[in-house]
Amino acid sequence: MVEAVTFDEPVELDEKSMRGRRGRTRKGQAVGRYLMCVHVTDRATQIAVLEGRRLIEFRVSRPADDISQIHGNIYLGKVQNVLPGMETAFVDIGTPKNAVLYRGDVQYDPEEIESGDGAQAKPRIEDLLRPKQSILCQVTKNPIGEKGARLTQDVSLAGRFVVLVPNSSGFGISKRLPDSERKRLRSILERVKPEGHGLIMRTAAEKVTAAEIERDVARLVGQWNDISKLAKSSSAPALLYREPEAPLRLIREELNSDYRGVIIDDRQLYTEVSGYVSSIIRPLADRVEHYNTKKEKLPLFERYYVTEQLKKALEPKVWLPSGGSLIIEHTEALTVVDVNTGKNVGKSSLEETVLANNLEAADELARQLRLRDIGGIIVVDFVDMELAANRAQVTKRFRDALARDKTRTQVLDISGLGLMEMTRKRSGEGLLESLSDICGDCSGRGYRLLADLMD
Ligand SMILES: [Zn+2]
Repeated sequence: MVEAVTFDEPVELDEKSMRGRRGRTRKGQAVGRYLMCVHVTDRATQIAVLEGRRLIEFRVSRPADDISQIHGNIYLGKVQNVLPGMETAFVDIGTPKNAVLYRGDVQYDPEEIESGDGAQAKPRIEDLLRPKQSILCQVTKNPIGEKGARLTQDVSLAGRFVVLVPNSSGFGISKRLPDSERKRLRSILERVKPEGHGLIMRTAAEKVTAAEIERDVARLVGQWNDISKLAKSSSAPALLYREPEAPLRLIREELNSDYRGVIIDDRQLYTEVSGYVSSIIRPLADRVEHYNTKKEKLPLFERYYVTEQLKKALEPKVWLPSGGSLIIEHTEALTVVDVNTGKNVGKSSLEETVLANNLEAADELARQLRLRDIGGIIVVDFVDMELAANRAQVTKRFRDALARDKTRTQVLDISGLGLMEMTRKRSGEGLLESLSDICGDCSGRGYRLLADLMD
């Protein structure tokens, strides 16, 4: 199996480019909005991201996650069956549940495929795939509950600064970068673009030197060559490429100068992460720290109040600053959020008080959805507002607050009954699910039948 390259000879950087990319300091202390705390035990690695002191994101990964956390992995899969009516194929990738490949994610060479209904018609999935066929595929979504992993045949390899798209001609530059930077990166791209493959410049390429980008490209091309070689000598199903473990992946995707630190309470993981950062993201090397639990008085997660905040994030009720609250409840099909005002609602301008409460609720809910990692359909019952302008203001505030969350969301306007419907892409299993079991006494229903009346 091929693994991502996470250690390399560092590229020499002159003092000027180092200075421009280092994290800020004040009186020798690292400054930055975010802090990543990584707590390692035999059973799991837990990652907490704090903004200031507030916990904003939490992830758990376990050694057994080769089954459930396989996003980004590349497999030689074996097509099990093709369902023409559903435009879907099920593919064995060696995990307990077959993975799913939709028609839109199937890659084919238009010159080789003859489609039934004339040249204009798109070929159907049964024309493209046959049972027992071996296909190269990549996981785009982890398996969740009863659903198998989702696959694509449009394989790509993520590095720190670029994404390599093998056997493609496309190239692009992150739209989030300023124009002058895009111009500079475009000229670098022309120079480093590998033969036969596409390339995308990531936001992390900002201010990065041509030499570093070139090295990133070389690492990915090397990885890809190893993967294709392995694919030829393997028989399906086989894991060809595995993404690095969760902390390294998160650091590759997120670490920037807005982080004041990455603190890890495990010596071995610290060495790995520190090796990655000092060879590939060198200006931030001093931000990675080892937390020596033998010397420190408190465990890492207590020192930064993570445990306390996690416990709160598992409860249904969340208090708002002015005394109102949110109640977050899960059902099989959707998550329901009830917004309440505090008790002392002034009589004079009820509408104003309700608006203020709902605005607080909008901010807090956006934070809770990310922290609790709630996906799927969500229905929010805001406190009723008379004025359409106020309803629009709450909707806008909520959408703005959600924009800081990288997970895709869609929010509809507040309906006639005062409900807001929204969806949030499911990325993980959810905080509650990853830290709890269903209660065995009541199967999670929360009620015990009264034995004396039900006998
Ligand atoms: Zn129970």
